[in-house]
Amino acid sequence: MTTGIHSADPCKGCRETVRPSSERIAALVEKIRKQSDRVLVTEEEYNKRLALCRSCESLQYDSTCKHCGCLVEIRSLQQESDCPYPFASKWRMHEGA
Ligand code: SF4
Repeated sequence: MTTGIHSADPCKGCRETVRPSSERIAALVEKIRKQSDRVLVTEEEYNKRLALCRSCESLQYDSTCKHCGCLVEIRSLQQESDCPYPFASKWRMHEGA
């Protein structure tokens, strides 16, 4: 079965020139951590999700998921977020692993 999405395809909405610096991403992560209305994952879960993203063929520019256009450092942080990999969340596939 083909999804029509190939790992070599670039994200349609993003280009490398829009990639934020690692300092900017770190500042955004810190800002979200300080917001009390957000339910965040544990540090262990956060690191697990990021490790999966970093080994995923859908990660672009070392920062952005090509399926949702999100910065993975931000998306991985939030409890209600899930991995948008087609047909099966990579994060949920590895839950409890
Ligand atoms: S959110 Fe899912 S599909 Fe996107 S880069 Fe991470 S593991 Fe890959």
